[in-house]
Amino acid sequence: MPLLDSLTSVRKNKCPRCHQGQFFVTNNHYNLKHFDEMNTACSHCGESFVREPGFYIGAMYISYAISVAITTVGFWGLVVYLGVNHYLVLGCLIFIFVANWTLFFRLARLIWINMFVKYDPTQR
Ligand SMILES: [Zn+2]
Repeated sequence: MPLLDSLTSVRKNKCPRCHQGQFFVTNNHYNLKHFDEMNTACSHCGESFVREPGFYIGAMYISYAISVAITTVGFWGLVVYLGVNHYLVLGCLIFIFVANWTLFFRLARLIWINMFVKYDPTQR
């Protein structure tokens, strides 16, 4: 199933085509010195991760969608349905975004490349 294949790649930081090679150099997104370093190509199948100049600008839309989804679910779920103080929810959301911006950066890039590169089981 294509969606599950993409989720495997995104969740495990793997090449979208073969699910073997690493997409980012390190698996630790809290390593602030190297969290954004990507391999130029897959070490297993050779799929290029540097597709064209500006390719990952589109990942900003994914990052925006992730932020909107978290904010909407957090605000509506906690403030509207559960009646939690909206300042407390706002503080929690700010904390979530500040503490996880490197994770969202990486998720956005992995989701973005998975939209264009499909999993090929014959490459395993
Ligand atoms: Zn690969």
